[in-house]
Amino acid sequence: MITTHTLGFPRIGKKRELKFAQEAYWRGESMVADLESIAATIRQQNWQSQKKLDFQTVGDFSFYDHVLDTSLLVGNLPKRTQSDLPELDQYFQAARGQTSKAVEQTPVAAAEMTKWFDTNYHYLVPEFAADTDFELHANRYLSYVREAKQQGVNAKPVLLGPVSYIWLGKSKDDSNKVDLLPKLLPVYSALLAQLAEEGIEWVQIDEPILVTELEDDWQQALNQAYLALNKAPVKLLLTTYFGSLKTNLRLACELPTAGLHIDTLNAAEEVVDVISHLPENKVLSMGVINGRNVWKTDLNDLVAGLAPIHNRLGDRLWLAPSCSLLHVPVDLNSETDLDAEVKDWLSFAEQKLEELTIVATALNEGRDAVAAELAANAKSIAARQTSSRVHRNDVQQRLQSVTDDIANRQQPYAERTKLQQAKFNLPMYPTTTIGSFPQTTEIRQARQMFRKGELDFPAYQGKMQAQIQRAIAEQEQVGLDVLVHGEAERNDMVEYFGEQLEGYIFSRFGWVQSYGSRCVKPPIIFGDIARPKAMTVDWIKYAQSLTDKPVKGMLTGPVTMLNWSFVRDDQPRSATCLQLALAIRDEVQDLEKAGVNIIQIDEAALREGLPLRRAEWQDYLNWAVRCFRITANGVENETQIHTHMCYSEFNDIIESIAAMDADVITIETSRSDMELLDVFNAFSYPNEIGPGVYDIHSPNIPKVEYIKSLMEKAAQRIPAERLWVNPDCGLKTRQWAEVKPALQTMVEAAKQLRQQH
Ligand code: GLN
Ligand code: ZN
Repeated sequence: MITTHTLGFPRIGKKRELKFAQEAYWRGESMVADLESIAATIRQQNWQSQKKLDFQTVGDFSFYDHVLDTSLLVGNLPKRTQSDLPELDQYFQAARGQTSKAVEQTPVAAAEMTKWFDTNYHYLVPEFAADTDFELHANRYLSYVREAKQQGVNAKPVLLGPVSYIWLGKSKDDSNKVDLLPKLLPVYSALLAQLAEEGIEWVQIDEPILVTELEDDWQQALNQAYLALNKAPVKLLLTTYFGSLKTNLRLACELPTAGLHIDTLNAAEEVVDVISHLPENKVLSMGVINGRNVWKTDLNDLVAGLAPIHNRLGDRLWLAPSCSLLHVPVDLNSETDLDAEVKDWLSFAEQKLEELTIVATALNEGRDAVAAELAANAKSIAARQTSSRVHRNDVQQRLQSVTDDIANRQQPYAERTKLQQAKFNLPMYPTTTIGSFPQTTEIRQARQMFRKGELDFPAYQGKMQAQIQRAIAEQEQVGLDVLVHGEAERNDMVEYFGEQLEGYIFSRFGWVQSYGSRCVKPPIIFGDIARPKAMTVDWIKYAQSLTDKPVKGMLTGPVTMLNWSFVRDDQPRSATCLQLALAIRDEVQDLEKAGVNIIQIDEAALREGLPLRRAEWQDYLNWAVRCFRITANGVENETQIHTHMCYSEFNDIIESIAAMDADVITIETSRSDMELLDVFNAFSYPNEIGPGVYDIHSPNIPKVEYIKSLMEKAAQRIPAERLWVNPDCGLKTRQWAEVKPALQTMVEAAKQLRQQH
């Protein structure tokens, strides 16, 4: 018999119950017992959903993040958290600097947060030093195991493996963190022994670093770790996900564990190799249902493909989703008003578990046992494959006509800049902002009423135009050189465009955890992308009609649209990106035709799309940059293209950033003291740059001297003629009362710089 399980399940609850409970607790509006009780309900529901599987996963629930849970478990919360507080409050202090407002405390620095592999989930970075010691704090973890057992759950606890745990952390004193492993292993061994005492047979231990390029010392660390942990009185299922094993394949197969899980969606071509290298006594768990997207699996195809493997492996074959289901929305059944045709093609976490059991039953008992389910699935798969909403002739024809030519500007930057200078006649150190202005309650309310049909379009348009008037008036008063319309009509930089493009749909409850209590609801690209009509032109034209200063047109770029959406699995990401690029290219050209001659195309998520393995970076960067260029470069020489990126790591991708060939790039720099510009300098980055001069995440108003000193540092690295002055990012999360003085200061600094020049 095949064994079924999942590597993890979403912990947020079907309607984001955990978020609301966490935030109420943090605001001091509820007791810890309320929070604990909602959490227990979510765990119980999750185990209930997994009842149809052979194992139910325990230990995947988290009050914030599973890496921080591991820090708690091994006694490695940052020392600055207040040790006289209850454990959960210390944990929240580590996560967010403070716990419930109702608890007396001194705020501490929160731990650093970073992306979990190539997902949009963020974890809290463990902190290490040479003298870091570990100590088992298993009360909470074991209480979940007992709670599960009380509910009759066949518990398979999950742990983040010790080597990945260390790999994911950061050494604070430059010591070599891998040296900490011998101190950490006894803690894991002790925990495994306690789990055995609780009657646990199998423990899932995640070592996702096995899909990355590992240096020798990390490979050795894995050997050392599993040689030690293998002595524990439980069976270990070593799991890998998000990628293929490549040079780590033999290592993963041969580590002394009782089983190995591989992500067969990302490592399809390695299955045969893994099976042949896997020792005869080991279980192979195949991750066959995609845990990273929202599409139904072709179950008939999967059953057919698995049948020979099942014959060969027999009981040694386990089946699971490819990775934890943390990365997909919880339940498609919550979506009551989703387009019925597209809904039939979708599968969220709950549905993915059903798919898994259908496949296992078909293999264990024969297809007849699930004939109806398989037939229904075949129907959905066929409908999607042949739908004219997915495959559009007009889009396909347009794609055929794409040539490399359309990715190029007519003249190189050096020529364009002269024409643009003559046209716009901007001063040295021109000032601008990144696009959005404060999203006031007034704006949100109007948008909501419009959505609900309580405001008709003319009324809504009037309200938004009033906001644009305000934004333009404020900017003129402040004396900025290049203005923006303020993005009042946009609720989100991807959703706003996705809603106007064909090929996209939006769920209502399709939330996925991003970090802590924060969730995102990525739109779903289901079909060929087309733009039925202009999306931004009227708003920008209106803004331009109010002022003689140039107003920038504001767009989200194709790569960011792609990286922040759930995408099709029936064509490569690059193909979907190209469709987006063509649609947004048309918008760029429409803006230009409407007399908008400065156009910003935001690519906030370009870096996020980088593959896990460096060897694959260039390929991604090539098509991503080409898509950006196709979007941007269909304009006249005089039209100035801006792009914006709000992160501060350009070292390893500077060549591609330059290849985008935007006339102006604005970036986040204020917190790096302009050192970030070193790489632009070293590369002799040829075009204009607007290094952010103040941190928009903070309510503090910068000082003129501070901005001037930053710009002087910038001018040591980039010729002053090519510098712009702007904030780090958009201002939508700030208040006007903060924005205005900050921008006034910024403009004053620019004026003084011009005088000095
Ligand atoms: N134009 C967008 C804004 O100002 C850019 C947002 C972003 O970079 N994340 O809000
Ligand atoms: Zn930004």
